[in-house]
Amino acid sequence: MNTPLIDAKNLVRRYEMRRGIFGKPVEVRALDGVSLHIAAGETLGLVGESGCGKSTTGRLVLGLERPDQGSVIFEGAPMPEPGSAEWRSMRARMQMVWQDPLGALDRRLTIGEQIMEPLAIHNLGTPAERPARRDALMQAVGLRPDQGSRYPHELSGGQRQRAVLARAIATDPRLLVCDEPISALDVSIQAQVMNLFVELQQKFGMAILFISHDLRAVRQVSQRVAVMYLGRIVEEGEPDAVLHDPAHPYSQALVSAIPAPGKGKKRIVLQGDPPNPADRPPGCPFHPRCAVAVAACRSEVPALKPRHDGRLVACHLAHGDAAPLMRAA
Ligand code: SF4
Repeated sequence: MNTPLIDAKNLVRRYEMRRGIFGKPVEVRALDGVSLHIAAGETLGLVGESGCGKSTTGRLVLGLERPDQGSVIFEGAPMPEPGSAEWRSMRARMQMVWQDPLGALDRRLTIGEQIMEPLAIHNLGTPAERPARRDALMQAVGLRPDQGSRYPHELSGGQRQRAVLARAIATDPRLLVCDEPISALDVSIQAQVMNLFVELQQKFGMAILFISHDLRAVRQVSQRVAVMYLGRIVEEGEPDAVLHDPAHPYSQALVSAIPAPGKGKKRIVLQGDPPNPADRPPGCPFHPRCAVAVAACRSEVPALKPRHDGRLVACHLAHGDAAPLMRAA
């Protein structure tokens, strides 16, 4: 394998949380040994329920936070200290697209000013050259240059997310980390913005870490998909393989929740409570909700390892010819 653009190894991230004002602090392990790599120009989709550690992974990959254990290598070099001069200069090559485009934009500045901002921050081009670059970026994301004089509240949600994307690609980054980039958008424009991600990647060739709870959205843009549960990756493989024949029982439940009109598909209803990172069960973290768990699942943590079909799966039972099947309701 060529040197990956991003190579994150065994990331562990803990936070301290108090239950109530006088409660004792408890440790929340948001990430529990996440490893991932992304090649130049590749999109990795990271999917899972809210609170599973997807966004924390994104922040660590961008270097916005340091891991408590593990390492992130970007373009062959260790991630610099957050806030250092080296880190700031590296940020031109890795950018973030947030969930809420209105929150990500400055309401006091026009869209055009905000698209040119990263060029000034990273000293790219001369002041005289920047307006032409702004107009080209706006056209690349499907905005008209004359819309550059508008303020964020004068644009629709979809147009705002296009403006956020134009600003994110202004510095020609090698990596975009996109955290739920379509979930705040109206359903009718989500598909357009998804298509835009695919177009931009083909045109500019950046790698993308696409974080979403929506497996269908992730499938549309990704060359590989990683499914997360309670701070760990439990399955990783090609999107079609994971969607059509999920091997991990949790992936099976996620896939069963995707509506399939007219197919009479039944949904797997998970037992027990949603995962709580402050109260991790021993053994396989999914075992309290897993209908096919065996005794070993309660004591032994399954390693994420390759199956016969090349997919990586963390399940004691998924490494034979047939994966264990959760039953639909
Ligand atoms: Fe279920 Fe056991 Fe596999 Fe975990 S290791 S997903 S509990 S079968």
